[in-house]
Amino acid sequence: MDKVLIANRGEIALRILRACKELGIATVAVHSTADADAMHVRLADESVCIGPPAARESYLNIPALLAACEITGADAVHPGYGFLSENARFAEILEDHNLVFIGPKPEHIRIMGDKIAAKQTVKRLGIPVVPGSDGGITEDDEALTVAREIGYPVLVKAAAGGGGRGMKVAMTESDLLEALHTARSEAKAAFGDDAVYLEKYLVHPRHIEVQVLGDGQGAAIHLGERDCSLQRRNQKVWEEAPSPALNASEREQIGETVAAAMRGLSYRGAGTVEFLYEEGRFYFIEMNTRIQVEHPVTEMVTGIDLVNEQIRIAGGAKLTIAQEDVVFRGHAIECRVNAEHPETFRPSPGRIAYYHVPGGLGVRVDSAAYQGYTIPPHYDSLIGKLIVHGRNRTECLMRLRRALDEFVVDGIETTLPLFRKLVRNSSIQDGDYDIHWLEKMLAEEA
Ligand code: ADP
Repeated sequence: MDKVLIANRGEIALRILRACKELGIATVAVHSTADADAMHVRLADESVCIGPPAARESYLNIPALLAACEITGADAVHPGYGFLSENARFAEILEDHNLVFIGPKPEHIRIMGDKIAAKQTVKRLGIPVVPGSDGGITEDDEALTVAREIGYPVLVKAAAGGGGRGMKVAMTESDLLEALHTARSEAKAAFGDDAVYLEKYLVHPRHIEVQVLGDGQGAAIHLGERDCSLQRRNQKVWEEAPSPALNASEREQIGETVAAAMRGLSYRGAGTVEFLYEEGRFYFIEMNTRIQVEHPVTEMVTGIDLVNEQIRIAGGAKLTIAQEDVVFRGHAIECRVNAEHPETFRPSPGRIAYYHVPGGLGVRVDSAAYQGYTIPPHYDSLIGKLIVHGRNRTECLMRLRRALDEFVVDGIETTLPLFRKLVRNSSIQDGDYDIHWLEKMLAEEA
């Protein structure tokens, strides 16, 4: 692999560019007209404009991306997260054009993209799942029967769901049919697929996910867990590793279960197996077949560069890290800094008038922002991730507190004030929070 085309934008485009540079691989940035002066475009060896601002016509435009590969002679494509990263068809088209897709095998992307198929597959491989319907639910009667068996509350979920969308809770039997019909029509509108299924609704779970790496040739390891329970509208806000809720034996057990399942699949590349965790038990919810936003948390506690590994594996290399080589050191926390009002969460695109990032031991900022940069209104509002590492959780929290105080972004609203509040909160300091904690705190403050 000599030249990688980065089919993304923002901080993750820059993250991939950095990994390529360290591997001595040339880089091609692609961008919409709205991103002509983006940081990843400036730093790449070459760049190609692939269309107008709307993602559909640029970052999701497969013919334009293929043309960009052709023009620049790129031999591989890294899709990042979002956009085309979990599009099995895109991976196949690249392979048909003799281009390397830096990601999993298309068949695995396809299975995991359908949550019903995903659940059936991992269950067969020995991973515990949330009790629910065995497959899709089409009839009202079937829904009523399954819900009675698993017990209320139940959750109706879209097979094609993503980004926290396409989910409806039914607290009692009288809500179920309405939840079912609403979820189905919302899923049809959002994803063009009305397949839905039923799951027991867990009332106070934590969200705990396991990072995996496989070489597609039968070897697979886990890199421990991340706790992503701090969420707003099912979207992660703060992630940490290790989880304050797990003990060493739970950690090892879930990690080994997941790694064994990935060996069973002959999984290739980086992936994340997501669980809800309640009263000492894990319940699979989905698998993401891409690099995730919160991957740096794992990098900070393992010292392993996940994007570098993705690229090497895509190039045909075998996994050179054995499970016993993965050593967890200290604690890491990531805050997703969004260009949003810290209380109303209204997007706040615009020009960054002044920008100063924190530094010092154990502080990492993954961001494509800079002073004078204008955040376009067309894309997601993530402007940067602050990741802090400490020898233990207490040191990490104190370091995060001072790093947040150093971070200055003027000219737009950001969620930095929210994090300054969270880091000083006693429940957060005690590690005592579930997936509903943040929403509750925000509601109480409003
Ligand atoms: P998406 O692909 O839309 O992110 P997920 O299946 O990963 O969907 O679920 C997103 C979030 O929704 C989870 O992190 C959790 O907060 C909540 N959730 C999902 N399934 C359940 C469940 N069975 N019980 C309670 N909460 C759930």
